[in-house]
Amino acid sequence: MTEFKILITDGLDESGQSILRASATVEDRKDISADDLLKAIPEYDGLIVRGRTKVTASVIAAASSLKVIGRAGVGVDNIDLVAAKKQNITVVNAPMSTSLAVAELTFGLLLALAREIPRADAGMKQGKWLKKELEGVELNGKTLGLIGFGRIGVEVGKRASAFGMNVIAYDPLISEDDIKQRGAEPVSIQDLYAWSDFISLHLPLNVQTRDLIGPLAFSRMKAGVRIMCAARGGIIDESALLDALNSGKVAGAALDVFAQEPPGLTETVSHPRVIATPHIGAQTAEAQIRASEDIANEVLSALQDKPLRWKVN
Ligand code: NAD
Repeated sequence: MTEFKILITDGLDESGQSILRASATVEDRKDISADDLLKAIPEYDGLIVRGRTKVTASVIAAASSLKVIGRAGVGVDNIDLVAAKKQNITVVNAPMSTSLAVAELTFGLLLALAREIPRADAGMKQGKWLKKELEGVELNGKTLGLIGFGRIGVEVGKRASAFGMNVIAYDPLISEDDIKQRGAEPVSIQDLYAWSDFISLHLPLNVQTRDLIGPLAFSRMKAGVRIMCAARGGIIDESALLDALNSGKVAGAALDVFAQEPPGLTETVSHPRVIATPHIGAQTAEAQIRASEDIANEVLSALQDKPLRWKVN
């Protein structure tokens, strides 16, 4: 029996690697360059990536033996799905593994924005006692608008309800009844903008959602709204966000994701009312273990022609 060869290019927790090694030869080439990937890929039956590796049409064209691409996490925007499909390569992901980690980070950002915790800490580290300047707002009784009410949005909603927030959600692909059952009040996007004290984004980036939160959206929001995004860079138009922060329309923003990553010290990142984190939504020990095990099992299933749970294309 020929053994499958699997290449891992963005690292994978040991728990997933040991599942793979039981049935395949595994090569862990973390941080492989785009050129080296092009040269190496013809040897492999399986490829496992996270968000860093760009699996472009050229990589896929060179992948003469490849049967499956696994994304250890959710977003597959770094994989050319059309090219993969044309070449009969299955793409799978691990969509359940990171939801709680992202929801908990979002909640951390929500509290950090409401009470300006990073600024308080930065002040202390400069020997400053900013007690008078640091009057925050409470979450209790405030309205949280969730745009996108899938796996992560629902978990954020549950936590917000426990803090006494009024949770409203806009998701055009989920019925009003389902939104209610999942714990939020369904609203139109216009009402969400008009009513929310806090807005959190939990939808995918695609042609419809790129720059969704731009000048028009900001103009419809409440003055003093606070915004969080741990979904994907590019959904918020960052220059429109800067204008809205500078005009006072937006009181604060917390961003885990950026149109370009890493963004460097841009005006957005260095803005005093922006809390920025380096795309750490899924970075918990538990999520990394879950993602690695889920994707290892799914990639092996694809190679062994077994039923798949999370086929993307
Ligand atoms: P999901 O597919 O479970 O939910 C996304 C929801 O967005 C769906 O219910 C869909 O109907 C809805 N949606 C689609 N288009 C919409 C639109 N135009 N307006 C409003 N809603 C729309 O996905 P998820 O697992 O909850 O992930 C949500 C986001 O979080 C994705 O962008 C994902 O890539 C991102 N994510 C980020 C990190 C991170 O590290 N920060 C980690 C994992 C996932």
